[in-house]
Amino acid sequence: MHSPIFSLEVFPPKPHAPVGTIYDALDGFEGLNPDFISVTYRHGSHANRLKTARIARTINHDYHIPVVAHLTALYSNKASVDEALDLFRKAGVFGVLALRGDYVEGNEPCGEFEHASDLAAYIREHDPDMQIMGACYPECHLEASCLEEDVDNLKKKVDAGVTHLITQLFYDNDDFYRFLDLARSKGVDVPIEAGIMPVRSVSSINNMTKRNGSKIPVAVQRLVDKWGDDVPSLQQAGIVYASEQIVDLIAHGVDGIHLYTMNRPTLARRIWANVGPLFQVKE
Ligand code: FAD
Repeated sequence: MHSPIFSLEVFPPKPHAPVGTIYDALDGFEGLNPDFISVTYRHGSHANRLKTARIARTINHDYHIPVVAHLTALYSNKASVDEALDLFRKAGVFGVLALRGDYVEGNEPCGEFEHASDLAAYIREHDPDMQIMGACYPECHLEASCLEEDVDNLKKKVDAGVTHLITQLFYDNDDFYRFLDLARSKGVDVPIEAGIMPVRSVSSINNMTKRNGSKIPVAVQRLVDKWGDDVPSLQQAGIVYASEQIVDLIAHGVDGIHLYTMNRPTLARRIWANVGPLFQVKE
């Protein structure tokens, strides 16, 4: 166990991608010894539940790393949540990141879980041994009218059973510190891991910021303006930027760092080479 906590996130390979890409990624993490790896989940179907569970099982059984599975609520009913929990338990998952998920145009939500807090409450009741994690948003969730309101809702999520939070990616640590102060002042007292995603290409940063509403601070925009057409240099600058973010977060006593790896072990390894020695190893 590290202090602060150090975790990684991976996603199941996209439908057209060779399934081996995930094993290449997991092989590439060797030596990083994260406290856990979380596996994302795409909406709804039995096939998606299986994909997340299979990768979780591999991480746990073959790589001997504790594993967390993501699960979304909007397009799930109680039967599919039960099925997911059963699959996850058999895969050796110790925690579920309980999420609402995003609305998909043209798809009608199941209507049984409106918010992540509803899913958290259901898991707490039906699988009390499972640790329940949740998401939070230092820059405010896109649909909330303000950060105050969003943090009030976050408190409901914690009251429903969430015992560990992971933030959306952010590029300005001051946003995180502002959010953290507010969350603590409103009684959100569980560990909060800071989500860090290194800049790696112009399209990826544009997609992520469009999807999440994350802002691009001037310092990051400068990197993109300078090296937008030169991917190796932009990635190098992104690694330095992410490493400096992490150093500053650790200096401020952050509970944990959750690295969005995008299944790219090289980026994760290069960041770890810079900041790994700052994490203490606890028994
Ligand atoms: P909620 O907590 O339900 O919040 C959504 C909105 O509702 C917010 O505006 C909030 O203020 C409001 N709200 C919350 N609770 C209440 C309440 N009780 N009453 C009234 N209003 C409320 N998406 C995927 O599809 N798959 C993934 O694997 C995935 N992994 C993620 C991992 C992390 C760390 C993060 C930060 C996000 C992830 N997402 C994933 C994206 C996530 O599903 C979206 O951000 C989604 O829009 C919100 O999910 P949530 O769980 O935060 O929702």
